[in-house]
Amino acid sequence: MNAPVQPSMLIKGATGDWEVVIGLEIHAQVTSKSKLFSGASTEFGGDPNAHVSLVDAAMPGMLPVINEECVAQAVRTGLGLKAQINLRSVFDRKNYFYPDLPQGYQISQYKSPIVGEGTVVVDLPDQDSFTVGIERLHLEQDAGKLLHDQHPTMTFVDLNRSGVALMEIVSKPDMRSADQARAYVTKLRTILRYLGTCDGDMEKGSLRADVNVSVRRPGAPFGTRCEIKNVNSIRFMGQAIDYEARRQIGILEDGGVIEQETRQFDAVKGETRAMRSKEEAHDYRYFPDPDLLPLELTQAYVDALKAHLPELPDEKKARFIRDFALKSEDAGVLVSERESADFYEAVLGQLADKARDGKLAANWVINELFGRLNKEGGAIATSPVSATQLAAIVDLIGDGTISGKIAKDLFEIVWTEGGDPRAVVETRGMKQVTDLGAIEKVVDDIIAANPDKAEQAKAKPAMVGWFIGQVMKSSGGKANPQTVNDLLKTKLGL
Ligand code: ADP
Ligand code: MG
Repeated sequence: MNAPVQPSMLIKGATGDWEVVIGLEIHAQVTSKSKLFSGASTEFGGDPNAHVSLVDAAMPGMLPVINEECVAQAVRTGLGLKAQINLRSVFDRKNYFYPDLPQGYQISQYKSPIVGEGTVVVDLPDQDSFTVGIERLHLEQDAGKLLHDQHPTMTFVDLNRSGVALMEIVSKPDMRSADQARAYVTKLRTILRYLGTCDGDMEKGSLRADVNVSVRRPGAPFGTRCEIKNVNSIRFMGQAIDYEARRQIGILEDGGVIEQETRQFDAVKGETRAMRSKEEAHDYRYFPDPDLLPLELTQAYVDALKAHLPELPDEKKARFIRDFALKSEDAGVLVSERESADFYEAVLGQLADKARDGKLAANWVINELFGRLNKEGGAIATSPVSATQLAAIVDLIGDGTISGKIAKDLFEIVWTEGGDPRAVVETRGMKQVTDLGAIEKVVDDIIAANPDKAEQAKAKPAMVGWFIGQVMKSSGGKANPQTVNDLLKTKLGL
């Protein structure tokens, strides 16, 4: 189950193959109304410094008070990552100077984080799923933001983000390609969204990645890593990894050594650039924050949070496969976003016979509805066809009222004009003809009009397909294909 290394993932250098090794530190903003240690709002997009308490501005003598909801969110996330929850954790001061950090330190967790080791199962199309180890998850404060573009000679500081709770989720160096790293972040984001612990919105900065990259000869010990800071899109992350791996290979093949350093990704040029040499932990003079007691949780508290955890994508996927015999790939598509899974479940909930038609419903949700939404750039939330309407269409196919082919016309009508699918079928006369007499007449007419073909079919039974086509055409697609097939075989003597 570990990250598979396939020959195609190795990078060809001038002197042979190289393997890239990737570990990610994800900063995920905790979904909560107020900040980690103050009551100020976390709302996005307020006027600069509109959401700043005296604690966030680090006024002398202000004391931090832990926000219980942020703790609960971190524990939920840990449980969702199948991770060890540490009943005792400690907040430390990480000391550094930066103009957007009025305290002169960040309250973080260092040696005793709230969450320990866990795992994330990642799926890649056309590959086996693999597991990425989670090293730890800790809670920490975000810093403020410097605004350089507001005044010709001054820089302004906006402390709205100062003190907002972040979860830093540190992976093990378990990824071996940009594709794997992208798939991991995508999966992690899905889990966070299911849990409701982070909205995963990379554009608003709710999810940022520090990307650690090193290269080595296949099977050799790990090489020295460089850390690319604050990558804020999954696409850029892939570009940064590929560029960085190439850069390191170039240096090593020229006989050089990799300096451990912190780099940044320039999205315009598509390259990484050195920012500073890597600081060591001792540079930060970590020590337990004397204003905060160690955080102690009871097992009962953790168990209660666990009992109320929503069903997560992996479990949902397994259930869809088990209950409705979905293909793993299809179930994967449905659970990949919470909205997609919710839509499918809403359809299921309204089917007349979900054991019979659950799989059919999945096909319709994925191929017709999502396919159409993708093509037109629409979102599920504003889909012109509702779950109720789609369930009605699937019911009509499932109980034999309409054929799959007519159902596509019906879908088109409901998509463009709306309406109750059952009523549309009635008023437009779209019902499938299962009446044997009516179909028989059409079949007889077509055989009578084509005696030569009927003769040929006796020698070449595959020609029955041509007759089926003719009958379907002359019935306007409404004849039940199975009935037509059976009748033709008898009449043609096949
Ligand atoms: P630091 O604070 O020094 O960045 P962390 O423990 O927070 O250290 O994070 C280290 C990150 O670097 C982890 O995600 C880990 O998986 C990754 N990592 C460690 N060694 C390597 C390596 N040789 N190549 C790539 N990534 C690595
Ligand atoms: Mg780091």
